[in-house]
Amino acid sequence: GRAFDVARVREDFPLLARTVHGKPLVYFDSANTAQKPRAVIEAVDRYYREFNANVARAVHQLGEEATAAYESARDKLARFLGAPSREEIVLTSGTTQAINLVAYSWALPRLRAGDEILVTTMEHHANIVPWQLVCERTGARLKVAPISERGELIVDRFVDALTPSVKLAAVAHVSNVLGTINPVAELARAARKRGIPLLVDGSQAAPHVAVDLRTLGCDFYAMTGHKLFGPTGTGALWARREILREMPPFFGGGEMIREVRFDGTTFADPPHRFEAGTPNIAGFVGLGAAIDYLDGLGHAAIGAHEQALLDHLTEALRAMPGVRLFGEAAHKVPVVSFLVDGAHAHDLATLLDHEGIAVRSGHHCAHPLMQFFGVPATLRASLAFYNTHEEIERFAAALARVRTLLA
Ligand code: PMP
Repeated sequence: GRAFDVARVREDFPLLARTVHGKPLVYFDSANTAQKPRAVIEAVDRYYREFNANVARAVHQLGEEATAAYESARDKLARFLGAPSREEIVLTSGTTQAINLVAYSWALPRLRAGDEILVTTMEHHANIVPWQLVCERTGARLKVAPISERGELIVDRFVDALTPSVKLAAVAHVSNVLGTINPVAELARAARKRGIPLLVDGSQAAPHVAVDLRTLGCDFYAMTGHKLFGPTGTGALWARREILREMPPFFGGGEMIREVRFDGTTFADPPHRFEAGTPNIAGFVGLGAAIDYLDGLGHAAIGAHEQALLDHLTEALRAMPGVRLFGEAAHKVPVVSFLVDGAHAHDLATLLDHEGIAVRSGHHCAHPLMQFFGVPATLRASLAFYNTHEEIERFAAALARVRTLLA
């Protein structure tokens, strides 16, 4: 395979060169939002300088160029995710909007009192709260598949929970807190056998693992562009064509209709049926550039580098007395949650920030997972392919130093 030259790759990310509190930045918060390569920044800049116009509304040249660029992001996403058809990709503002679209357009009209939606203990609030809102309005119930102390989904329990009352299962591909990679293909096979649609929250997966929707076998896949090195306010929902065709619109407005009359309106076919109003055109132009950039690096090279970073980071934290790691799954992305005895997560994060090191502290929008581990918050170091072993050394040295200030 291609050799991965991280020093060379870092030059593509202008922000990584800055300092914070007089120290070189160590950015370990990519699960929150990833930094953007120059190619993305320049694509957005070029869009506004050279072909800013609204999409699908004008026959003039700029409108055609903007539409072509926006629609090419759909093509790139379809290819990147291994979707059978570009028509199955609905462009959204992110994973949250993608899941809410399924909740309101697909689940709400279908669920009845006594039905169940199966989720897991490790879900982000974006894959819990929309289902709770649908449950409130339909009388359906949320059911939770448990995880182990190691932070892995207990697959047998998940499969056992797929009873006839379950009308939808919704699972993270990768946990934003633990880094666990769930065995989605296996879960999808079990759900499919029982006729239960599976939604996968791919927000944290796409930046790290190759996603191939043809082999995953799920029915819905939600993803986030800003964690995939693209602009904020971008994301997508993939769903099987036959499912999308049966879904009514969620938002009404321009660009999602076939014909509007005061005695009744007919709607455009998917995916445009779900894209009312002026979309984040600049954002998707940038996301298209992000996907091109990632294609240039290659998933295999990224994966090997990230695994080495994960091993290094995990070893460094394990070697430190009084450090508790959360989630030691066999299959992980380079995301590590931890706590240090005698120190509050926020205090440590603040002291690390003074060393130029950006980590996240808090509940990570995963209250039930915090409740499972019996803690209010964790520190989370989340890495991307642009991080280095030297940064891990700096982080470990800084952590060892600042914890003594709190002990
Ligand atoms: N699911 C997971 C697992 C996430 O990590 C996030 C983002 N933190 C979301 C959903 C929500 O994504 P977005 O902010 O793009 O809506």
